Amino acid sequence: MLSLDALIREAEIAHGHLCAGQVLGVRLAMLGLAKLGVEDPRGKDRKRLVTFVEIDRCATDAIGVVTGCRLGKRALKFRDWGKMAATFVDLESGKAIRVAAKESSKKLASEMHPELENKNQQQMLAYREMKDDDLFSTQWVKVELPPEEFPGYKAERIVCAECGEGINFRREVEREGRVLCRACAGEKYYEVL
Ligand SMILES: [Zn+2]
Ligand SMILES: [Zn+2]
Repeated sequence: MLSLDALIREAEIAHGHLCAGQVLGVRLAMLGLAKLGVEDPRGKDRKRLVTFVEIDRCATDAIGVVTGCRLGKRALKFRDWGKMAATFVDLESGKAIRVAAKESSKKLASEMHPELENKNQQQMLAYREMKDDDLFSTQWVKVELPPEEFPGYKAERIVCAECGEGINFRREVEREGRVLCRACAGEKYYEVL
């Protein structure tokens, strides 16, 4: 595993700027991987890990950098819960750990560095220095991963009976005897103009 500083530098480049979220995300992912004993997530351990992220903010990018888990490899799963937390699943051992940033860490950051006026600067520095226990809570969890959730899962593509578009990974739904995509089944997030 690279050092904290090296990973923060990589996260900064991938994310486009350095911010408190990068420091927090790097530390969150490093802690999760350390607890699992995954040492080389982007090298020899690269097929061992699936990561669930619960927020789509700055830290999410950093978690992707440290773990090497990407949406396009199906190793990064997004649950839009608005929480600064992620769960790291070790496919080899079946163990999983959820790491969540403590709400109290922001206040602690301002107490640690009252000399800095800018909140982002304050947190960027404090999140480097803070003890794991002050920054995060962790819990061992069990994550059920059906075969279609694994990276590299292959199956026949289904075609939606309504719109004719292809559907991967068992995302189809059955409505009144017809096999539909989620959009045609009523879960559209868009309206066709
Ligand atoms: Zn950012
Ligand atoms: Zn459809």
